[in-house]
Amino acid sequence: MTALLEVEDLKVAYGKIEAVKGISFKVEAGEVVTLIGTNGAGKTTTLRTLSGLLKPVGGSIKFNGKTLRKYRADQIVALGLAHSPEGRHIFPRMTIENNLRLGAYLRSDKSAIEKDIARAYELFPILGERRKQAAGTLSGGEQQMLAMGRALMSQPKLLMLDEPSMGLSPIMMQKIMATISELKSQGTTILLVEQNAQAALSLADHGHVMEVGKIVLSGSGNDLLHDESVRKAYLGED
Ligand code: ATP
Repeated sequence: MTALLEVEDLKVAYGKIEAVKGISFKVEAGEVVTLIGTNGAGKTTTLRTLSGLLKPVGGSIKFNGKTLRKYRADQIVALGLAHSPEGRHIFPRMTIENNLRLGAYLRSDKSAIEKDIARAYELFPILGERRKQAAGTLSGGEQQMLAMGRALMSQPKLLMLDEPSMGLSPIMMQKIMATISELKSQGTTILLVEQNAQAALSLADHGHVMEVGKIVLSGSGNDLLHDESVRKAYLGED
């Protein structure tokens, strides 16, 4: 069986700066796979390239049997690859509900869209309670929920989450991680970029450690969680 996502020797550069230097990894349907690593390792660049926002200088990306090189960002969303970006990028003056609807802009199945909005409110009750309010009034964690809800509105085959725990209180972070677990148990396939290695590895099937544009270590979430070098470098242990 071929994987849902197959990244092979991917290289991405900003002018002369090589941000991603030939990485390879796979995501199988139903899995949570995480990319962890410090600032500047190339994780965000990798997700932006998978979304079609950046063009690779080398390597290949296969998603659901198709080579992504020829597709624009909006076509990639239509193929089933959704991205909840770092820094969230919600529309602060628009209502919460309209932000969610934007995530469905490529769909025309009205009744299914309504069902998915109801599902987003089930996952994140606070969004339902405040559906008519401007999204900018939400707290950071709630905006993160909205960004995830919006990405889910495209009914993705693969959901990419960039640092969903960034800037959140420990309680909010736990909530977001619990939601990711719930999405996984509902069968959503997730590629998770996180600096919080402990949280990400605890729920991931597989993880890859990135350092300066390369994958330096790969394994099951559990193996990496107990790996001595990972514990020292990313989990704050001596
Ligand atoms: P972070 O968690 O800080 O987002 P990251 O692992 O996601 O880190 P990237 O944001 O992908 O890392 O950055 C990888 C490298 O590319 C870094 O050296 C960064 O400075 C560089 N870089 C990122 N965006 C640009 C840009 N627009 N122009 C030039 N260099 C960039």
